Amino acid sequence: MASKSDNWSRFGFATRAVRAGQRRTHEGEHSEAIFTTSSYVFDSAAEAAARFSGDSPGNVYSRFTNPTVRAFEERLAALEEGERCVATASGMSAILSLAMSCLKAGDHVLASRSLFGSTVLLFENILGRFGVTTDFVAPGDLDAWRQGIRPNTRLLFVETPSNPLMEVADIARLAEIAHAGDALLAVDNVLCTPALQQPLRLGADVVVHSATKFLDGQGRCVGGAVVGSEAVVSKVYGFLRTAGPAMSPFNAWVFLKGLETLGLRMQAQSEAAGALAQWLSERADVGRVYYPGLADHPQRELVQRQQCAGGAVLSFEINGGREAAFRFIDATELVSVTANLGDTRSTLTHPATTTHGRLTPEQRQQVGIGEGLLRVAVGLEDLGDLQADLDLGFAAAG
Ligand SMILES: *Cc1c(COP(=O)(O)O)cnc(C)c1O
Repeated sequence: MASKSDNWSRFGFATRAVRAGQRRTHEGEHSEAIFTTSSYVFDSAAEAAARFSGDSPGNVYSRFTNPTVRAFEERLAALEEGERCVATASGMSAILSLAMSCLKAGDHVLASRSLFGSTVLLFENILGRFGVTTDFVAPGDLDAWRQGIRPNTRLLFVETPSNPLMEVADIARLAEIAHAGDALLAVDNVLCTPALQQPLRLGADVVVHSATKFLDGQGRCVGGAVVGSEAVVSKVYGFLRTAGPAMSPFNAWVFLKGLETLGLRMQAQSEAAGALAQWLSERADVGRVYYPGLADHPQRELVQRQQCAGGAVLSFEINGGREAAFRFIDATELVSVTANLGDTRSTLTHPATTTHGRLTPEQRQQVGIGEGLLRVAVGLEDLGDLQADLDLGFAAAG
């Protein structure tokens, strides 16, 4: 089970995506094997003792390690250019495992106010009960981040670009702010994936993923990962090994297959999203279009410095508020009406009543999520078919 090369940094992204992490068994399989085993046998009592004590490397139990899961971890670590990765049962358990391994009662978290809904609930409601406090600031407001740091701040947490309004946070500057305050910078890299943005190279300490989204890319499995330095990720592994939100080997295998086409998918989906954003921005019946790849994005220079493409997600405003938005959604025939994203099939969402429905109308207004806002996560359909489908929506919205 030796790997041909453990030093993947000398290879390009596409090569790492299809080859990193693979170890063949003596059977010589070309595709990765799926090790559906909960436990492992030892050659002797002494070997069992050595494995349990850690003196001998190797598998003990699949809550700790599993060869298929390790292949996924190594491949994703190679793509994010991190020293180490641990896979988790979901994106949320990746964020939970990170928080549980780097925070304690009395610590403070400074987070972007534009985060995935469950992430906000995790920090505020769940970690709040264990004595961790969290403040939220606008992702692009560097002064607010600087002023929000307290002596007990141990973690800065950001998603960039944000969902659904595509605000971009300056990862390199946030890393400086975090490190000046002796805190870690964690970036949720779900929207860009390492194909478009590598936060660790920009100075972030740790990246979290929902593999459920673009890493799988085909809407099949739920999973997550934490990637970063050996020092940070070994603590996350320690939590995971004891607390148990491990990834299943079957899901790891599906994600390995997903990673093999990640670069191609992100490129194609970004290109289609860029064309769709341009098409939308030229329409009289559309208000603002939010997409990092547009020339008039307010943080254009930062986007170009930090991302190599705009990504697959965009939002736009139509006139007529919630009624018009609902008529629009109900008139489409092709796009999937779901709050999920990162699939080969395009999805259409009304954030104000779904992903951001738990916010009060005042909070939504404050962050800029209006009743006429619609979000499209662009898949791999033909662009003309998507445009024709959205035209049905525009005709019905009036
Ligand atoms: C979906 C998502 C998560 C949570 O991931 P799960 O796999 O659903 O647990 C976290 N962050 C972002 C940005 C997401 O889109």
